[in-house]
Amino acid sequence: MDLPKAGATGSPKHRMSVPDSWCNFVYDFPEFDYAASTNLSEISKGPREESIGGVDVKPQQPLALMRQSHNTRDRVISIPEPLLELYRTYRPTPLRRAHRLEKKLGSSARIYFKYEGGNLSGSHKLNTALAQAFYYKKAGAKHLVTGTGAGQWGTALAYACSLFGLSCTVFMVRISARQKPQRPAMMRLFGATVHESPSRTSRVGSLALSQKPDHPGTLATATSEALELAGGQDGARFAVGSGENCVLLHQTLIGVEAVEQMAAFDDFPDTVVACMGAGSNFAGIALPISREARARQKQLRLVAAEPETCPKLTRGIYAFDINDFSGTTPVSRMYTLGSKYVAPAIHAGGLRYHGTSPWLSAMHAAGMFEAIAVGESESLSAGLLFAETEGLLPAPESAHAVAAALRIVRNPRNPGPRCILINISGHGLFDLTGYEEFSLGSLTEATVDEASLADSLRACRNFNDRLETALGEE
Ligand SMILES: *Cc1c(COP(=O)(O)O)cnc(C)c1O
Repeated sequence: MDLPKAGATGSPKHRMSVPDSWCNFVYDFPEFDYAASTNLSEISKGPREESIGGVDVKPQQPLALMRQSHNTRDRVISIPEPLLELYRTYRPTPLRRAHRLEKKLGSSARIYFKYEGGNLSGSHKLNTALAQAFYYKKAGAKHLVTGTGAGQWGTALAYACSLFGLSCTVFMVRISARQKPQRPAMMRLFGATVHESPSRTSRVGSLALSQKPDHPGTLATATSEALELAGGQDGARFAVGSGENCVLLHQTLIGVEAVEQMAAFDDFPDTVVACMGAGSNFAGIALPISREARARQKQLRLVAAEPETCPKLTRGIYAFDINDFSGTTPVSRMYTLGSKYVAPAIHAGGLRYHGTSPWLSAMHAAGMFEAIAVGESESLSAGLLFAETEGLLPAPESAHAVAAALRIVRNPRNPGPRCILINISGHGLFDLTGYEEFSLGSLTEATVDEASLADSLRACRNFNDRLETALGEE
């Protein structure tokens, strides 16, 4: 048969392999780790207990993961072979030039995208789920427990646990589980036990239900339920989907690959855009490229796209706040809207967290990247345009990154971007309801409840004032 030759139509010139190490960004800026991890555990006990229903939390993470989070000694951290073998089943992920999108926009800038939606779990979360399952298994854990909002994290962890022979229990925010029944179904297919949260399986959940029988659930409650189960059962551990340095580290696969893939195009981005939940996919693509840009002495603009209704970077404060990432650190210094803030139920559930990774927060406070807040209709519209032109439907979360990139391309500062790279963190095939509502014109644009945001910010400021006083008196 006379088949066309691969590589004949402008695709990269060489095949690449999966990186054998992660990019340790902590090594690049150790001072940010210090700024972010200042520990005020004793003083902050009160609000922490409030947040998890008074449950005592035992240290949950294997030493290997804790070390990864605070390693200031090694420039790169090598990936163990059994883990590499699993990464090879779906990595390297595609990096393509968005020719048809460029044309549609009439843009003179080159637009590229990296696509993390092609694995079984449908998002970048699998990159850390596999790594965590590997290290927990090695440390003797039998059972991983977690809370999930939109469900991508729960799906990734369920799949990773099935590969490593670990039991898995996921507490999924009730309203999300009802909106996206495919997610819990998929978790169950991989053997996970899924509880709609609040559930009656925990004290925290039962309490929430007794106060409000039709409780829609929140990520904080789901996390509390997961912590309660993990804390009370031998061999059970709580695993965390984003925010912590080790999770960000696992995601650097995205950026390490992207550097090599851009080189295969003889190109290098001057602008990188990713959406911001707690920050793992943003860090994953941005930090390795940023290291490379410093090495080449090139200017690089990093842009985080967040929802207008959960605007921690554009409207939040840099302060100590409750950090429900893992239950190992009571409070963290980060950009936050205050832990009392409940973002409206937008379709991009993965971006509804009130805080930001402490590491990225320290970076942002130092002016090292910027943030753009995007409305829900604007993001879904951008996601659809991307689907029409590039043939892939971004997750509503990732669509925020597309929307921010479109703004940059359409209204360039001077000088405008010449080469822009967008991270597409996941696919939107389970989010068709949101896309359809938008295209039928029945989507009601959610807005910030200004009074409750002000209230939450005030509570957070007061908490910080009390901390300062307490510290001053020591
Ligand atoms: C979880 C998730 C996000 C947000 O989390 P980050 O840690 O900020 O990356 C973004 N996109 C998708 C598809 C997700 O599943």
